[in-house]
Amino acid sequence: MAINVKTVRRPEGQTSYLRATLKGMALTFRHLIDPKKITLQYPDEKPELPPRWRGTHRMAVHADGRPKCVACGLCPTVCPSNCIRLVPGEDDQGNRYPIVYEIDEFRCIFCGMCQEVCPVEAIHVGQDYENAEYTRERFIYDLDRLMAQDHPVTALWDPEDPLGQ
Ligand code: SF4
Ligand code: SF4
Repeated sequence: MAINVKTVRRPEGQTSYLRATLKGMALTFRHLIDPKKITLQYPDEKPELPPRWRGTHRMAVHADGRPKCVACGLCPTVCPSNCIRLVPGEDDQGNRYPIVYEIDEFRCIFCGMCQEVCPVEAIHVGQDYENAEYTRERFIYDLDRLMAQDHPVTALWDPEDPLGQ
């Protein structure tokens, strides 16, 4: 999909609001009669998301039910919103694992850097946007909740195909 960038400049001098209003209404009218423009009847119909669309996180899980995270600390370090809380632990064999792993989805800006940086492909942003809640506390996803997510994960940025075409 090609990305077009349109630069809109602030008008200089006197501006006619009537002309701008008529232009806006003409555009609305054009869309009204354009058979290619459709209104999705959400939630019965849902949009098809691009593969790199980023939403609610998901933690990958081993076959025995353990989280794939090895508590390396990279994702909380790189996170620009500081919304990942990790308390690392170590078992008898010296394997690191997360005692606490939480993501505040309310503070997250869905940049995807946690997924990019994870050395074991444990944490992923995902193709899920239906995550509305009634309280702010419910936006803090703990490890169990992250592991229970089952939506598709987001495709990583590919330097060979920077525009995702
Ligand atoms: S997507 Fe970005 S902001 Fe959100 S948790 Fe990951 S690194 Fe932090
Ligand atoms: S980068 Fe991956 S392995 Fe490291 S703490 Fe984050 S989720 Fe765990």
